[in-house]
Amino acid sequence: MTQTYDDTNIFARILRGEIPCNTIAENKSAIAFHDVSPRMPVHALVIPRGPYCNIGHFYATATPTEILDFSKLVSDVIAQLGLTETGYRVVGNTGDHGGQEVPHFHLHILGGGKLPAMVGTKAA
Ligand code: AMP
Repeated sequence: MTQTYDDTNIFARILRGEIPCNTIAENKSAIAFHDVSPRMPVHALVIPRGPYCNIGHFYATATPTEILDFSKLVSDVIAQLGLTETGYRVVGNTGDHGGQEVPHFHLHILGGGKLPAMVGTKAA
């Protein structure tokens, strides 16, 4: 899987301030905002500010501070959105098989209602 970062992607443009986003919370290394096409009543995205293509690229090459800040923001957003008691799902689509559309690492936080089964059928 390519680890060459494409800085024309939509999240890179959000980070450069070229297009707006509906910010939930942020820290020095990461920002969280509402998904523009929510699949659940609550659908947030958390992204690092650094140029990481996907989850593997991020955890293999980000600094300990970036990893800590990113993880802290995920936790803070879950609490801020009121999901702690009811439950939620955190999803990281990666690459072609994972259905990743935006090639800047992000986690989806989904909640606000009962989520469907994680995947439809068991793999053979
Ligand atoms: P993925 O398929 O995991 O790469 O998810 C990308 C997500 O980014 C999708 O859920 C899109 O709805 C969301 N998205 C795309 N453009 C924007 C935008 N400008 N602001 C917020 N979310 C966006």
